[in-house]
Amino acid sequence: FETPARRRPRSNTKPKAERQREASLIVDSIIQTSESSEDEQDEETKAAQSWKKKKAAILKKLPPGVDEHAAKQILNEIVVQGDQVHWNDIAGLEIAKNALRETVVYPFLRPDLFMGLREPARGMLLFGPPGTGKTMLARAVATESKSTFFSISASSLTSKYLGESEKLVRALFALAKVLAPSIIFVDEIDSLLSQRSGSGEHEATRRIKTEFLIQWSDLQRAAAGREVLGEKEKERGDANRVLVLAATNLPWAIDEAARRRFVRRQYIPLPEAETRKVQLEGLLREQRHELGEDDIERLVGMTDGFSGSDITALAKDAAMGPLRSLGEALLHMTMDQIRPIELKDFEASLTTIRPSVSQAGLKEYEDWAKEFGERG
Ligand code: ADP
Repeated sequence: FETPARRRPRSNTKPKAERQREASLIVDSIIQTSESSEDEQDEETKAAQSWKKKKAAILKKLPPGVDEHAAKQILNEIVVQGDQVHWNDIAGLEIAKNALRETVVYPFLRPDLFMGLREPARGMLLFGPPGTGKTMLARAVATESKSTFFSISASSLTSKYLGESEKLVRALFALAKVLAPSIIFVDEIDSLLSQRSGSGEHEATRRIKTEFLIQWSDLQRAAAGREVLGEKEKERGDANRVLVLAATNLPWAIDEAARRRFVRRQYIPLPEAETRKVQLEGLLREQRHELGEDDIERLVGMTDGFSGSDITALAKDAAMGPLRSLGEALLHMTMDQIRPIELKDFEASLTTIRPSVSQAGLKEYEDWAKEFGERG
């Protein structure tokens, strides 16, 4: 199509590569929510190098019984490095944050204060509709408690890693102890601990589930045995600083025995008005926009029923608004020539971006939370 840019005389234009670079900078600065400075990049490179060395050292001295290939997979694919999430990145969810501070962060940072009656829980379940910040919370817990973060989706254990899953689960728990304090985050835990057990369940899936429960019990026993046995202090101390944090959008699918093992079950609900406001303001903070206090209030009203990820999707789509009418012309424009984001961009995006959880679906979570959970 014909755009003003195409009609511009060649002599006026910058080299194509430079124009493209500028355009991509503009687009990046509009869509990105955070950018890292050069200093931060230096830090990241250093951290990556030291992690590489640490991995090599661990692989040279693996605990007995741990499969080397599985260990490599865990260290390369399951341990999450860099790109940290902090409490402040997560809008709202104060009750959940406090519960996690008390259950994980403080005990990990000051294990001496959390013994006996104050013994920390070894498992915590985060449940609620999709896109409400469960994964973000788990990552923030790892950052704030200075822990190694192991992140695996249970469905990948029963699909991608099937066949080697039992070895992988053993290696996972062993390495979590080696790298303690550690958080083992298992997303979609329902697909591992579901009620399907018995005749209908796939034999391989059942074996992984059994292995997972054995390893988890061992962890609990090792930690609990700390005061009874007078030896192997190091090993028990490490077991005491490994926590299984699991997330699910289908809490009712988890079988009863497995459910009871999660001493704490935290409901992560859809964001309330105040939380939506904080999140929207956070997303707009780094952007050029013309939304006043009243506009934000209106947006908060229009996003009732939206999850955190729905709101992010909405803001990203609205941020594209000022570029959409420009077509290819945007490739030649400076940042200042692009108009700020306005309420009308959000209104336009709201016609296509809708809440992903229905009212009926929401009620199911509320009911389950009333019966089995703690409110967040
Ligand atoms: P879940 O694990 O509950 O499905 P995630 O933690 O993966 O959800 O969140 C998905 C995305 O939604 C995040 O990357 C973030 O952009 C956004 N999001 C969700 N909840 C929040 C929140 N409370 N604060 C800020 N962003 C959020």
